[in-house]
Amino acid sequence: MGFVYGREMAKKCILCGDEARFKIKDSPDFYCQDCAEDSFSDLDLLVKVEEEAQQLKKVLKEKMDDLSETEQELDSILEKKKSKPKSNIKDVSDD
Ligand SMILES: [Zn+2]
Repeated sequence: MGFVYGREMAKKCILCGDEARFKIKDSPDFYCQDCAEDSFSDLDLLVKVEEEAQQLKKVLKEKMDDLSETEQELDSILEKKKSKPKSNIKDVSDD
């Protein structure tokens, strides 16, 4: 049967096989903290694995928020149509 990988969720460092914390932008390469610091002087080149996951969550959440917002917007639009706003045409006589 070979090996059964229980929790393969965590990405592994391509250099030492440790749990990866960083990933190169636009590439599938993952690095652990140590190897990332050894290989790259500028960690800005790397994306934090956790951050990426959180960004995904954020995007999803924003999309969901958008949906609920448009629903609310629809409600308010309907509300405005019901109660017609008074026009200010008679403003001239205010003088
Ligand atoms: Zn490593």
